[in-house]
Amino acid sequence: MRTIGIIGGGQLGRMLAMAAARLNFRTIILEPQVDCPAAQVANGQIVAAYDDPAALERLAAECDVVTYEFENVPVSAAEMLARARPVYPPPKALAVSQDRVSEKQFLNGCGIETARFHAIDSQEQLEQALADFSGKGVLKTRRLGYDGKGQRVFKGASDNATGAYAALGGVPLVLESFVAFEREISIIAARGTDGTIACYDPAENIHRQGILHTSTVPASINEATAEAARLAATAILTALGYVGVIGVEFFALADGTLIANEIAPRVHNSGHWTEAACVVSQFEQHIRAVAGLPLSDGARHSDCVMQNLIGDDIDDLPVWLAKPNTLVHLYGKTEARPGRKMGHVTWLA
Ligand code: AMP
Repeated sequence: MRTIGIIGGGQLGRMLAMAAARLNFRTIILEPQVDCPAAQVANGQIVAAYDDPAALERLAAECDVVTYEFENVPVSAAEMLARARPVYPPPKALAVSQDRVSEKQFLNGCGIETARFHAIDSQEQLEQALADFSGKGVLKTRRLGYDGKGQRVFKGASDNATGAYAALGGVPLVLESFVAFEREISIIAARGTDGTIACYDPAENIHRQGILHTSTVPASINEATAEAARLAATAILTALGYVGVIGVEFFALADGTLIANEIAPRVHNSGHWTEAACVVSQFEQHIRAVAGLPLSDGARHSDCVMQNLIGDDIDDLPVWLAKPNTLVHLYGKTEARPGRKMGHVTWLA
């Protein structure tokens, strides 16, 4: 095994390519955008659409194993590749996580609690579902939502739902019951080709405008809640016959009960802290998993906080660089648009 193919050229692919290089693997990125963050540090890039058959054939020919850095890789592309080369995580993980309804059904099937939900395909269904939830809920697109995009919150019966179905584009939606959570946490876990599972400690996440702002480790949860997160991640990895790193996001209620929100079949923004506070980061863990190497146990040597540098936050770079015990990681993006993730910093407590 020498070359790892990575579908997607963003910062997650970049950090995977860097981790791969340290273990003597070559990486080839499949990404339509030229000079993307990942290709800047990889051994090669195939500049093509993620579902371009000729590009997929080339990727399979040039790589020993293929992985991906985002969950909206077309399932048909992953399945086509899987006929030629191992594709990790398995394409089934993409199919499950690309649709919020199939994701919740899968989680419930693993014995993991989620928000109650109704699939919505019309304004009439939306109104019936809102009535069932006493007017409160979060309406989301079933597919292709990220960072809080494609969502609408209903706070109660006085919230006017007229036109809400059409306003989200007339696409399949899901209405989730509103979860009155105390905090949001996530867990990063991995499963190797031999079935070994390793979990990192759960992180506590704060979002701003729907985008992750900080991840703090340890999270303010008790051991029983941390164990519940590990058990949920273990059940998901096992049910999918998974290989690689996964991120699982939860709402934690005041009594410590966890409600799963979503799964990301890839390395995850709320796991970036592992590169500063663990000997083996989530990126190296993922490379180890897909390459069939032994996993790290996920041990953490420090408490820490990771903060995303979004848009203009990048202007504070000199301030971050001057701070002690602080690791700065930039993504090679030239233009700092609002909402764009430019880099992150992790400081050790
Ligand atoms: P998501 O795109 O599903 O990660 O949702 C973005 C953010 O919206 C979450 O991190 C929560 O802060 C909030 N949110 C999403 N779903 C719910 C829900 N069912 N109840 C309460 N808050 C939610």
